[in-house]
Amino acid sequence: MTRIWNFSAGPAALPESVLQTTQAELLDWHGVGASIMEVSHRGKYFQEVIAAAEADLRELLAIPANYKVLFLQGGATLQFSAIPLNLLCGRSADYVVTGAWSKKAFQEAGRIAPVRLAVSTESADQPADGFIRLPRFDALSLDPAAAYLHLCTNETIHGVEIHDDASLPQNVPIVADMSSHLLSRPVDIRRYGLIYAGAQKNVGPSGLTLVIVRQDLLGKTAVVPRLLDYQAQVDNDSMLNTPTTFSIYVAGLVFQWLKKTGGLARMAEINREKAALLYAAIDDSNGFYKNPVEANCRSRMNTPFNLPTPTLEAEFVRASETAGFMGLKGHKSVGGIRASLYNAMPVEGVEALVGFMRAFATGRG
Ligand SMILES: *Cc1c(COP(=O)(O)O)cnc(C)c1O
Repeated sequence: MTRIWNFSAGPAALPESVLQTTQAELLDWHGVGASIMEVSHRGKYFQEVIAAAEADLRELLAIPANYKVLFLQGGATLQFSAIPLNLLCGRSADYVVTGAWSKKAFQEAGRIAPVRLAVSTESADQPADGFIRLPRFDALSLDPAAAYLHLCTNETIHGVEIHDDASLPQNVPIVADMSSHLLSRPVDIRRYGLIYAGAQKNVGPSGLTLVIVRQDLLGKTAVVPRLLDYQAQVDNDSMLNTPTTFSIYVAGLVFQWLKKTGGLARMAEINREKAALLYAAIDDSNGFYKNPVEANCRSRMNTPFNLPTPTLEAEFVRASETAGFMGLKGHKSVGGIRASLYNAMPVEGVEALVGFMRAFATGRG
């Protein structure tokens, strides 16, 4: 068996030991004589699994008691609708657009109510630049009556990450799409009203969506489809209907792996080291590799970069696959190359990639 270095943006690599445990327990979970996939979500075995997953997630992120944790379905994309449905209550909301995902969230909310674009960093005059920077959060002009301020703290496609959330406004509940960097470092949950994340980037298998929401924001809504109603999900422990049991089980194993690795502070150190290696390889390449994002907001998780020509980029992707790497082709909307360095990617994988990049540039630059 050969496992290759998987730089996919999502679904993405999972820790090898988590896959091994999953494999070892697949036919017979804890001596029960059945897979955890095959038992009732309301039975005591799965109840044990989801309770442990929630407890471990709460411990990892130090989630305060007045926040609820929900294990939902429909991806981060369904939250683009669930958030305005639950939180607007006849008001407007402010949206910060810093990349493709926050733009989608803004557009989707607009189908429900006329929410407001607080700022967009898309450079209209230089469309080739796309999204490469963050706005000045202390200079935003916000609607004082907004129900919330929505933003995406790590733009998976454009590679723009908010590193300093202490500068975010504090006078309005902040709703954050953290799909592609939740659990990559500690986060002060109390700065946020609601955090959501599709699991398949940095948490576990696809199918599961995490929502962490401050209790006082809930229960004020008129008519929301029950499956999308946060308060109804809270009242039913995320089990209004059958939850995505297997994904929750695997995510729970990832939480245990994170605790064994040393928690999120340790994870943050490793992720910093990995990102530093990759950005150094780009910046020290005499312009052969280029990442357009401004230095203060380069993502530690997703690094898009370009080579001098699309032909060389196609050649790079082909050669990388032959050399034992996977998932380096850029998102179809922006092209180029993208390397995603989620928690499950070890430092050695990034060292291997950087070695490959240096060798590829030699003689072509
Ligand atoms: C992948 C991604 C999404 C969409 O997630 P789905 O689970 O496919 O709906 C939304 N936001 C961000 C930041 C993402 O990375």
